[in-house]
Amino acid sequence: MRKVCTFTALLLLLALFVSPSSGADMGAMTPAKGTAVQWLDAHSEVGAEVAKYIWHNPELGLGEHKSSTVLQEMLKAAGFKVESGVAGMETAFVASWGEGKPVIGIHAEFDALPGLSQVPGLAEEKMVVEGCPGHGCGHNLFGSYSSMAAIAVKKAMEANGVKGTIKLYGTPSEETLVGKVFFVKEGVYKDADAVISWHPGTSNAVSYASSLAMDNFKVRFYGKASHAASAPWAGRSALDAVELMNIGMNYMREHVRPESRIMYSIPDGGKAPNVVPPFAEVWYFVRAPQYKTVKEIMDWTKKVAEGAALMTQTRMEFIPITAVWQYLPNQVLAKVGFANAQLIGIPPFTDEDEKIAEPFSKSVKVEKGPFLSREFTQYDYDKPFSWATGGGSIDEANTSWVVPMVRFSGSTLAQGTPGHSWQATAQNALPPAFKAALTVAKYMAATALDLYANPSLLEEALAELKASNEKHGPFVDPAKDVPLPTFQLMHNVDESQVPVQTKDMPMPDFSTLK
Ligand SMILES: [Zn+2]
Repeated sequence: MRKVCTFTALLLLLALFVSPSSGADMGAMTPAKGTAVQWLDAHSEVGAEVAKYIWHNPELGLGEHKSSTVLQEMLKAAGFKVESGVAGMETAFVASWGEGKPVIGIHAEFDALPGLSQVPGLAEEKMVVEGCPGHGCGHNLFGSYSSMAAIAVKKAMEANGVKGTIKLYGTPSEETLVGKVFFVKEGVYKDADAVISWHPGTSNAVSYASSLAMDNFKVRFYGKASHAASAPWAGRSALDAVELMNIGMNYMREHVRPESRIMYSIPDGGKAPNVVPPFAEVWYFVRAPQYKTVKEIMDWTKKVAEGAALMTQTRMEFIPITAVWQYLPNQVLAKVGFANAQLIGIPPFTDEDEKIAEPFSKSVKVEKGPFLSREFTQYDYDKPFSWATGGGSIDEANTSWVVPMVRFSGSTLAQGTPGHSWQATAQNALPPAFKAALTVAKYMAATALDLYANPSLLEEALAELKASNEKHGPFVDPAKDVPLPTFQLMHNVDESQVPVQTKDMPMPDFSTLK
């Protein structure tokens, strides 16, 4: 017996010296994490009020004036220093507290989606205001509860003498993949040692998956107007050029890698059949598992566009809007994140929450509960990750190549709820969503506190990032020559034309955050 004990003690000692990522407290409850969790539970109402405020004031990317302001006010009230107008974007901000290294950042998003207005809590499609944007991606929760996590970290650092800096990155216009792309381009993450992020959805997870790389651009053709019946020979049709470009792209589609995704819409195809269209515009997204494939497709695409202009005797203008690489997971940080998610557990949903979720699942033909996820999505964090072969693209993908990142997701939505749907908008203002988002705020705060306590984890995460850049990169910013897009270019309307859902809603009370 005694022999065994001595042996065990020896092993433990060895583990302390040998195991590199074994910050002794990783994934364990510590006094600092206890402070953060308690603070979040005690102030959960503030998170919900801010999430509701942003939900009731849905604003499109780069026009998120009220949403950005409420988050800035919240963080200022909690003692953060806020720098606004970051990277040339009026609604972008960075809120900081503390000093020196390590610098841990948390991402916050707050933009809404066009035309997704929906009555809160109603399980049938009905807009609050016709044509108004809506929070169908849950960025009202994203902004609010990321800020809650940052404040909880600050409270825990203060109460437990933790050294370092906590930053909240207020990143606008995620739906158009703009905010974080321009944060990377302008060097906003220069001093960050790690960045923590999350997304609302139908699962509880610490992501260990990639996302598709993408180029987002428009092609404009300029022709010559003429009476389409009495003098068509005098005109040159810009719409013909758009149509021929699309035909060329659809023929090209067969000869690119099958995982690639090429999609387009025609925001402007001329105004009337009896006028030869002097102007037409087509809008493209080109996606692939890795940016090098996107680049190959883009080189061909530009030739297709030039060909269309040649064939129709029109002039072509190529307008890049934004570009992202594939997301680069970080194994070291994913493990720290998962240890903390397990420590905190899944959101404590009740029967009442299930009742709220049920009609939304049933509206998409999911008939059997539980309607709110009670488990963690399984990833094998010991194996290398794979590149994505489907799904979407994210703007924080560029961030992931310049600073190690970890991304959580929380089951804020009923099972089966599609992203960007009226069902999602309806639920993003309800108590189960607030409960799941609060749980994720705890994962994020606990993970940040592990990283301050164990700087060796940050060194390992950075070494992994460097090795990944050598193996899969190096990352070359695909947006380095792309100017910041205007509101009009991204949304095809002027900001003044976007319907407003709520006129004068008072801002939540932040006096308890001091
Ligand atoms: Zn989103």
